Amino acid sequence: MMAGPDVSVIVPVYNEERVLPRLFERLYAALDSLGERYEIIFVNDGSRDRSAQLLAAQFRARPDVTRVVLFNGNFGQHMAIMAGFEHVRGQIAITLDADLQNPPEEIPRLVAEIRAGHDYVGTIRRQREDSAFRRTASKAMNRLRERITRIEMTDQGCMLRAYDRALVDTLNACQEVNTFVPALAYTFAARPTEIMVSHEERFAGESKYSLYKLIRLNFDLMTGFSIVPLQWFSLVGIVLSLGAGALFALLLVRRFMLGAEVEGVFTLFALMFFFIGIVLFGIGLMGEYVGRIQQEVRRRPRYRVSAVLEAPPQASPEALAEASSFRIPSAVAAEPPSVNAASGSKA
Ligand code: UDP
Ligand code: MG
Repeated sequence: MMAGPDVSVIVPVYNEERVLPRLFERLYAALDSLGERYEIIFVNDGSRDRSAQLLAAQFRARPDVTRVVLFNGNFGQHMAIMAGFEHVRGQIAITLDADLQNPPEEIPRLVAEIRAGHDYVGTIRRQREDSAFRRTASKAMNRLRERITRIEMTDQGCMLRAYDRALVDTLNACQEVNTFVPALAYTFAARPTEIMVSHEERFAGESKYSLYKLIRLNFDLMTGFSIVPLQWFSLVGIVLSLGAGALFALLLVRRFMLGAEVEGVFTLFALMFFFIGIVLFGIGLMGEYVGRIQQEVRRRPRYRVSAVLEAPPQASPEALAEASSFRIPSAVAAEPPSVNAASGSKA
């Protein structure tokens, strides 16, 4: 009996119809020349464009090495990767962005590091091809994360990473919502390493992360992996109340020595707004944690898979030939009549 694949590549896909054809060319070429048995698991994260159709067509073209997990809604990049992990049959899992910012040609180097005995291979983008704003913001977030979590990643944003089978099994045992996959994996990794990889500009289409989504993602990373922000908050609270106590004492002394004063009202306002700002931030921060707790205790399924296109494991050539005429769910088989045809997906 033939063993499963060596390498499983997981690609989250959200509205990437303009990139997919080029991704297929480069990814399959890179893996075909790798000389390992491989599979590619695409997870369609509720795309509203023709991505699902393109993926279904690619599955028909290469059913031996292609698997497609179709979500019925948009659950986010990290949930898509977690769903991919649940379907991994290989010994090494590699995650990769669909937009070709992570060159597929780097995959062999990641595989080599796992073979060298590492269970987690992180990456550092040699020269990052993103906007100056993204680069600066991400440097600041990296530094902040370094301080408040125990996760050591030089470049937290690069998603081209490799994980060995045992680590993937551990990740599959985690039922966390809104997580950050590289950080979660790092917490369990025994022999992590990092390598430099090249980085390219997005091939086509635009970033799926708005400023708002980026902020949310970073909250997931900070509050999902550390309670230090809460503790900092208590410290700030202590310092502030000591300061306020001192101020009160000072005012009291002045009251008796100089009599009643009304100057400095605006200073008082400024101070007050400052404190109110801090208090509001604190409540918001508490809310982040309470929100996480609420999401975890609900124990809802983290995503919903509407269909999986795949040939059975260890399928014979004849079965695979048949798989190319595989019955594709009508929702993704047909060309969507108009723009918003993603059937079954909710807002
Ligand atoms: N992605 C996803 N679901 C989302 C947002 C993004 O599956 O809700 C995928 C997207 O298709 C791409 C990867 O995650 O393969 C990274 O997204 P993007 O390139 O837009 O992010 P950026 O490079 O700007 O950080
Ligand atoms: Mg990108």
